[in-house]
Amino acid sequence: MERKTVISAYAKINTYLEVVGKREDGYHELHSHMQLITLSDTLTITTDDTQPFSLLLRCDRPEVPTGEDNLILRAARALFARYPMRRLPRIEIDLEKKIPMQGGLAGGSTDAAATLIALRDLLYPAVTEEALCTIAATIGADVPFCIRGRRGAQSARGIGEILERAPELDARLTLVLVSPGTAVSTPAAFRALDAQADVCRMQDAEARFSAMLEAVGSGELSRIERASFNCFEEVIFSMQPRVGQVFAQMRARGADMTRMSGSGPTIVGYFENAEAARRCADAFCESGFDAYLASPLCAAADH
Ligand code: ATP
Repeated sequence: MERKTVISAYAKINTYLEVVGKREDGYHELHSHMQLITLSDTLTITTDDTQPFSLLLRCDRPEVPTGEDNLILRAARALFARYPMRRLPRIEIDLEKKIPMQGGLAGGSTDAAATLIALRDLLYPAVTEEALCTIAATIGADVPFCIRGRRGAQSARGIGEILERAPELDARLTLVLVSPGTAVSTPAAFRALDAQADVCRMQDAEARFSAMLEAVGSGELSRIERASFNCFEEVIFSMQPRVGQVFAQMRARGADMTRMSGSGPTIVGYFENAEAARRCADAFCESGFDAYLASPLCAAADH
């Protein structure tokens, strides 16, 4: 029998990101507030249990690698390895890619998370979300968040693995995401940050992170703006001045709050006024940038 399921894979933004230390094994310890947003890829998964097992990925964008390196296939393989089945069906996955790649929006990670959820629902209904997150962590640091984040915003500590439900942004905000057209490699961003060791390792990191979570809880965007932070901004702006220019333009074009997401380079403008957001996105498009409109994904909705 052929079965088909369609699932959205949502991009993530960081409203707060600070590296607070480095462990002896080289991993960075951080404080982060993350929320999924409505900008999404779409995965259509078709299984056919009358056919022998095979696993195939197709994507509508030729620049997306569809070989075994793709996090979608890595996630599927990891799930099958953890829960071997006597007979797996034929599986075809069609990926409609909307999330800009290498943008600090966790595009690949969220595709992997959606794959785990959809295949669990289709083939392993008894597997819990916790068990799925254990597999997710073997695929990438952001993948467990991309599963849990579907239930609402999260704070992350440790090396990103200690996730907790956190206050969330108002779903009525309009976000303008602009790709400055450059790519940032996450390891290179961390190396650059390490070279400036003193810039953001301030002693009151814990107090400032708590203040941020309280600010998000208050729902007041001006307060969130004052408390929010991304320690990668200065580093990336000096490596790639164009990213800093987009940040400045976002402010000049009326954003109530502007932050880079993750290690960049996507710049996110937060707007209380949807019409102002639309005008800002249009202005970026007119000057040749890729700009996207989205809203925060909130817990109340069922995803
Ligand atoms: P992060 O925010 O987690 O650092 P990112 O959003 O910056 O991630 P991705 O869009 O996940 O970056 O892409 C990083 C690289 O991962 C791509 O250049 C691509 O080669 C590879 N990749 C593997 N699987 C996928 C996928 N499903 N979608 C996009 N890229 C993928």
